[in-house]
Amino acid sequence: MSETARLRLTISGIVQGVGFRPFLHRLANRLALGGWVRNTAGGVELELEGSGDALEAFQKALRDSPPPLAVIEEIRCEALEKPRGDTTFSILPSEAGEGATLVSPDLAPCPACLSELADPRDRRYRYPFLNCTDCGPRFSILRDLPYAGSRTSMAAFPMCPDCTAEYGNLTSRRYHAQPDCCPVCGPRAWFCGADGTELPGDAIALAQQALAAGKLVAVKGSGGIHLACDAQNREAVLRLRELKHRPGKPLAVLCRDGAPVLPRFRGGSRAARKPAPTDCSPGKAKPGRFSGVERGRDDRRFSSLYPSACPPARRKSGRTGHTDFHKRQPSRRAGADRQRGRYGSCLLYTSPSPRDCS
Ligand SMILES: [Zn+2]
Ligand SMILES: [Zn+2]
Repeated sequence: MSETARLRLTISGIVQGVGFRPFLHRLANRLALGGWVRNTAGGVELELEGSGDALEAFQKALRDSPPPLAVIEEIRCEALEKPRGDTTFSILPSEAGEGATLVSPDLAPCPACLSELADPRDRRYRYPFLNCTDCGPRFSILRDLPYAGSRTSMAAFPMCPDCTAEYGNLTSRRYHAQPDCCPVCGPRAWFCGADGTELPGDAIALAQQALAAGKLVAVKGSGGIHLACDAQNREAVLRLRELKHRPGKPLAVLCRDGAPVLPRFRGGSRAARKPAPTDCSPGKAKPGRFSGVERGRDDRRFSSLYPSACPPARRKSGRTGHTDFHKRQPSRRAGADRQRGRYGSCLLYTSPSPRDCS
């Protein structure tokens, strides 16, 4: 058995908001190492104490199999003079200071969260803001670094006892998930009419009904505001174009997962035939985005799907739902509207510019 030693590791890169500290805590426990970890203004800092073999195994696992969403740029290692007798590992509060670190982008919903979103027995069933250490908003909610719940807009939503228990449970996939929330303690969605008055009812269902009725809806999610309308409703598309002062430029579309149009996006050119990231996966730089279908034969076929939504252009682009909020659109109810020919499988989904809607 090798001698007990103590190391300090300083890690930089995208190491905050990607489940890094929970990963290090589990790894240290598995190797029976004591010490601590904390986020700093420059990344992550930790001290480790244990046998030389275990310390080596820790560093090897860190280099070879870091958390999937992390991007390690540098690991600096410093041998400390004396072990302090730490036999347990803990996560310390983040420490502000000088330095610069990279921020994780918002992360598309992971399969486990999507499964909860669709499970009527789960306490987060149809809750559009669920997240975990592998997914959810990051950059959009950040107010300051180092990354910690108290420095995000989620600080306004104290965790309920159930979420607090998950947050503190090393075996939970929400262990130290800073934006952890649920319908009891987290943000809620609401729907306002044209005069700004909140209307009673399920906000997302109300938005879907408005879209199915050919109305324009401004959707404010965690990452900003988009203007939406049914991409198959000519009048709605023309109205949106008029308000945006965009009479002819192709606008992005938002499609349901599995929407019939998706294969057509991929069918127009050799490049577009490549498998497209039509589903959202954590860690994708641009989750859910796709593009394809070039001018020509396929364009006619495409135009029949979106009258005036996408005029002839060399390439079209769009995305599937990239947050849990968007994954709820359209619902089965809106699907019924679609069957009656009143709701497309795609929305025109475009960001507003300052001069829009004036
Ligand atoms: Zn998740
Ligand atoms: Zn909660």
